[in-house]
Order: sequence, then structure tokens, then C-alpha cells
Amino acid sequence: MNAIQTQLLVLGGGPGGYVAAIRAGHMGVGTVLVEGQALGGTCLNVGCIPSKALIHAAGEYEAVQRAMLGASVLGIRAREASVDLAVLQGWKQQVVGKLTGGVGALLRKAGVRVVQGRGHIVDGKTVDVTGPDGEVQRFQCEHLLLATGSEAVALPTLPFGERVLSSTEALALDALPRQLVVVGGGYIGLELGFAWRKLGAEVAIVEASDRVLPAWDDDLVRPVVASLQRLGVALHLGCHAEGLTHDGLGLRVRSRQADEFVLPIDRVLVAVGRRPHTAGYGLEGLQLTMAGNAVKVDDQCRTSMRNVWAIGDLTGEPMLAHRAMAQAEVAVACIAGHTRRFAPLAVPAICFTDPEVVAVGLTPADCAAAGIPCLSASFPFAANGRALSMDGAQGFVRVVARQDNHQVLGWQAVGPGVSELAAGFGLGIEMGARLEDVGGTIHAHPTLGEAVQEAALRALGRAVHV
Ligand code: FAD
Ligand code: NAD
Repeated sequence: MNAIQTQLLVLGGGPGGYVAAIRAGHMGVGTVLVEGQALGGTCLNVGCIPSKALIHAAGEYEAVQRAMLGASVLGIRAREASVDLAVLQGWKQQVVGKLTGGVGALLRKAGVRVVQGRGHIVDGKTVDVTGPDGEVQRFQCEHLLLATGSEAVALPTLPFGERVLSSTEALALDALPRQLVVVGGGYIGLELGFAWRKLGAEVAIVEASDRVLPAWDDDLVRPVVASLQRLGVALHLGCHAEGLTHDGLGLRVRSRQADEFVLPIDRVLVAVGRRPHTAGYGLEGLQLTMAGNAVKVDDQCRTSMRNVWAIGDLTGEPMLAHRAMAQAEVAVACIAGHTRRFAPLAVPAICFTDPEVVAVGLTPADCAAAGIPCLSASFPFAANGRALSMDGAQGFVRVVARQDNHQVLGWQAVGPGVSELAAGFGLGIEMGARLEDVGGTIHAHPTLGEAVQEAALRALGRAVHV
């Protein structure tokens, strides 16, 4: 078979792979990008973007419903509320289409050759790609960059299919499920649980831990739980799903006390985590060193095999799109002969619940565990003019700083729209800002950002508005 030669072959066109390919193109590295499904990967097609579109639409619909029920404190009244799911799904797909089309255009502009097909790794320099027509083309590369992402974890007792959905199907529903039971109260379970509840489904969450979002700090999760309760989402904590009933219309659940009960279901969303996608495309043959079920990489995204690199979800937690993109930049710079390291002080994490939750850097508990004496202070949105004017006074911003020199180590926030604060949080931490820098910076009024400045001032013992 005649092989096509390239300097770099990127396997997988998600946020890790497509950013790597574009940047490699910018740097003059001859690049082929192989994608088996759709450019943009999980994130653009069935992850970050469609979920945020659905969440936005659900929030809009909930506001109309409140107006219809006479429950709007703003005095807004509506005669009826209805949602056309076909139109909503069409709009969501348009958003996805604009972004994935944009990625294709950016790749072309950067001179990247995009190959549609499933890649099979032959060795560290050779990949066979089976195109949509079944034809196989061999590629040989100097550098192989693996960006094949992750896949949803299935429960043996609840295999995906028919009424049992992964996030991909749960994002694409074109009819409202009457009773949606969500197994797993983490990122996906809560984001999609909120969305479908607001769109009108009865939602119950079955979570193995004794609280939802178990990886997040208690104070941050409390306003989210209050909101779930306000919306009437049933929480079954410390519970495991045991499988469907014989008629397929119920989910058998076992509590920690060993009680078994049945929840009626129309659909079940299983969202118990994702794992790196490592099987079925010849990766095993490379015998790379693994870190658990992820490909082990160093701080330049090198695997244990020379000139084979890996980025994104394939390399394990945190499985977030912005981490994949940041690793892509590092790996490609190194491939192009520069010296860069992936050593962020913080990778922001945001859960797009209602209210939103953000964590960047260390929490007080992280500092305690690491033996770092710290100062920590919170500023409540109840004392922030912008939050009150948006009828969103729940939540707070919290800062964590070193006790000795006041260098900021972490920020956490929960409240409406706080996802947009993450950029400033990250910048401050990466630039080594101190409490005095944040407290002494003019923050525009009236904005949620004033709570950031006030939290820093409060840690210094001189907040104004609380
Ligand atoms: P992926 O995006 O998974 O891309 C991998 C690509 O490789 C895929 O396109 C796949 O088709 C391709 N591929 C795999 N094997 C082959 C092969 N053999 N040949 C050819 N192509 C192959 N993260 C956030 O940061 N923020 C969010 O709000 C967020 N929301 C999410 C919501 C949901 C519902 C889900 C499921 C995930 C969400 N994530 C979010 C996580 C985010 O989607 C991932 O972290 C991100 O997509 C990882 O990027 P990646 O490039 O590593 O892999
Ligand atoms: P997750 O790890 O966030 O949550 C899984 C939850 O399921 C946990 O609370 C866990 O305790 C629970 N669980 C595990 N096994 C269970 C069982 N047998 N029965 C009941 N509960 C069980 O995983 P996810 O929600 O599937 O999301 C996967 C990944 O996707 C996330 O870790 C994240 O990396 C990414 N993601 C990110 C965002 C975002 O950034 N906003 C949104 C969605 C997904």
C-alpha cells in the first residue's frame, strides 16, 4: 500500500485534536487530521455546546412558565407556555453546525489536511484510515498525536439502549420524557437533570454518594440542592440503580440501608462518568505506559513512546475541553521544536447548574490537606447590586490566599452567571495576584465582579458592603 507521508498526524478532531492541528498549521508543521465522526468531537457535537444550548433554552422556558403561573416576582405575566422541542432541537443543531463548520474553515485556512475516516494505529509512525467508502489509506508520520477522547461509562445492570440513555441521546430527545430518572448526580446528571426538569419532565436523581456533586465543596453545592428542591427534583442519595423492572417501566434502586424500591421511568439517563477511549483502534499495540485507564503523559504531553504524544480526555482527569486545548498548544509547540510545559496553577471547573458553580485553584480544604496556612473569605451575592437587580441573590464568591504573603491560590463561586467570572479567577492565579492587587483594582459597578473585589477586601479585613 502506498503511504502518504506527513510530519504530524493528529488522531481525533475534538477540542484537543483540532486545536493541535490548527496550531501546527500556523507553525508550518505539515499536518493531517483524522476524524472518524465529526469535527469538534464530543465537546462541539454531543457535549459542552449542545448541553449549554439546551440549558439556556430550558432557563428561558422556565421563566415563561413562572410568568404563566403568576410566580414571577418581576410582575411579568404570560397566558400560556409551551415549547416546541423540534424547533428547539433544530436551533441547538444550528449552533453546533455553525461551530463545527467554523472549525473546518479554520483547519483549511491553517493548511491542515482533514481526512474523514476511522484511524487504526499500525505502529507509532503508521496509521491506516478507513474512509466512509470503506477504502483504506495508509499514512506515515514523524509525530503521532493521539486525541481520541473519552466515552460514557455504562452500568452492567443498565446497558445503553431503548429507554436507557447516555448524555448523547439525552441531549437529542425530540419528545419530552414524562419521568426521567438520572443515575449519577455529577456534572452531566445535574446539568441535564436541571434542563429537562425546566422543560417539564418529572426528574429524579439516583446518586451513589451521600450528596450530589460529591467532588465539589459542600458550601458550593448547598444553593444548587436548594434549587433542585425548589424545582421539585427528587433526590435519592446513597442509592444504586439495580436495573429495570421486567416490564421496563420502572428502575429498581437499592439504598445504602439495603431497602429496594422502584422509580417509575419513561427514560433513564446514565451519567456515572466517562473513561478514556483506548480500545478498538490499535492503541493497545503501542504498549504505552498507562496511568490507570488513561494514557500516561509527561508535562509536554509525551507518551512513553518517542514521538507519540497524547492530549485531552485520553490522558485522564480533569476531562475538560479547555484542558485538552491547553495541552494541544503545549504538545504542538514541543513537536515544532520549542520548549513548553503543561503546568497550569489551576484548571477552572464549572458546573452549569442553576445556580452555576465555579472552582479555580485551591479550596480551604485543599490548603489544609497540603499544610498551607491560608486566609479565606466569602462575599454574598445578597449584598451585590447586580445580583439583586437580576433577581439572583443566592450564592457567594470565596477567595483563598496564602496567609504569609496573601498570594491568591483559589477562587470558588456559586450564583447566577458566575461561569463568566472564571476567566478573571484564572488570570489572577496564574499572574500571582495578591489580595491587595484584587482589592485595589477598580471593578466596574454594578457587576457580579464587585463580589470578587469585596471577597478579597474581606479577607484583608476591610470589605465595604458587608
Ligand atoms: P473528544 O472531544 O472526545 O474528541 C475525540 C475525537 O476523536 C472524536 O471526535 C472521535 O470521533 C475521534 N476519534 C476517536 N477515535 C478515533 C479513531 N480511531 N479514528 C478517528 N477518529 C477518532 N467540558 C468542558 O470543559 N465544559 C463543558 O461544559 C463540558 N460539557 C460536557 C457535556 C457533556 C454532555 C459531555 C459528554 C462532555 C462535556 N465536557 C465538557 C467534556 C468535553 O466534551 C471533553 O473534555 C472534550 O470534548 C475532550 O476533548 P478531546 O479532544 O480530548 O476528545
Ligand atoms: P461525574 O464524574 O461528574 O459524575 C458521576 C456521578 O455518578 C458521581 O457523582 C458519582 O458519585 C455517581 N455514580 C457513580 N457510579 C454510580 C452508580 N453506580 N450509581 C449512582 N451514582 C453513581 O461524571 P459525568 O456527570 O458522567 O460527567 C463525565 C465527565 O464529563 C465529567 O467528569 C467532566 O469531565 C465532563 N463534563 C464536564 C462538564 C462541565 O465542564 N460543565 C459538563 C458535563 C461533563
